[in-house]
Amino acid sequence: MSNHRIAVIPGDGIGPEIVAEARKVLDAAGKKFGFTLEYQELLMGGASIDAYGVPLTEETIRAAKDSEAVLMGSIGGDAKTSPWYKLEPQKRPEAGLLGIRKALNLFANLRPAYLYEELKGACPLREDIIGDGFDMMIMRELTGGLYFGERKTVEENGVRKAIDTLTYDENEIRRIAKRGFDIARKRRKKVTSVDKANVLDSSRLWRAVVEEVHAEYPDVELEHMLVDNCAMQLVRDPKQFDVILTENMFGDILSDEASMVTGSIGMLASASLNETKFGLYEPSHGSAPDIAGKDIANPIATILSAAMMLRFSLDLDEAADAIERAVKQVLKDGYRTGDILSEGFTKVGCRQMGDLIRDRV
Ligand code: NAD
Repeated sequence: MSNHRIAVIPGDGIGPEIVAEARKVLDAAGKKFGFTLEYQELLMGGASIDAYGVPLTEETIRAAKDSEAVLMGSIGGDAKTSPWYKLEPQKRPEAGLLGIRKALNLFANLRPAYLYEELKGACPLREDIIGDGFDMMIMRELTGGLYFGERKTVEENGVRKAIDTLTYDENEIRRIAKRGFDIARKRRKKVTSVDKANVLDSSRLWRAVVEEVHAEYPDVELEHMLVDNCAMQLVRDPKQFDVILTENMFGDILSDEASMVTGSIGMLASASLNETKFGLYEPSHGSAPDIAGKDIANPIATILSAAMMLRFSLDLDEAADAIERAVKQVLKDGYRTGDILSEGFTKVGCRQMGDLIRDRV
């Protein structure tokens, strides 16, 4: 029986509630597939500010590095009412998240956008566009590009001017491209690399390096698409995509667009990976302070993030499949948390949703 060390950051708001349900489901999968998970709970974000005065401690970073993967709820509070937001920006909860991404070198962000047959009603696209649903994975570069380049604002002859720089070197592109092709191999074996190569030098280098890496993956199909066209295709024909591979800012925008077309924020998982098997897994949504402590949050995004952790960091694909199947089955059986509820279905709370999924693993 294999044993794995997992760092757990419950976080703030609904974080502790949804993480508890994910652990329940993971443990059930472990029993069935013959592995055990040893959890170490760590503080980050608001909870860490309350305990230590800072959103991220060296101790949390060290313990996260010592583990095989990190499972996180969500961090942050209500910006209008929480005392955490009276602190200077680098001491607020979100600084902890940026800090841990940097400390763990998490350069690849993965966000699946999957439309469940049972939740088609929540999708804002027309039925003839949805067809029998879509299932794509957005792979976004997370630590380079425009958001990390040099920036300044100057005044020239009385005119204010702002400058941001977009830089990528070939190594940064190569490592994310490899990750993209690796993920495609675990899926339908198609990569759409998105750039703006008709205008930007950084995009022309991106395209060239992606082509070079593709030579090592002849079994995976590669196509290039300009970012403006991709934004359009996501709402015109989302079924065409398997893995979308793109740089930081394009990925920021496209991943939000892709998740909105699924229509349900409580269902969307995410992962951030480094060069090894290590990753940080968390739902795409925030800490939802408005519904914290009421046992009404949807734990499915976190449960699906836990399934991604089994697949990508621990190579426990069978167990990951079983969790994803259990989620589908619960939806098929008619159970819904409030955020995805529509007429004729059975409303359940966070804990009960966790129990129902666990029972189907
Ligand atoms: P949010 O995602 O927390 O909430 C937006 C809306 O969706 C709210 O009405 C909320 O109740 C609902 N919602 C979100 N997740 C849900 C779930 N699982 N089940 C049911 N309903 C759900 O976004 P926000 O309100 O803009 O942000 C709240 C806090 O979360 C802020 O402090 C923000 O900084 C933080 N945040 C953290 C992360 C992260 O940790 N990665 C990401 C985004 C936002």
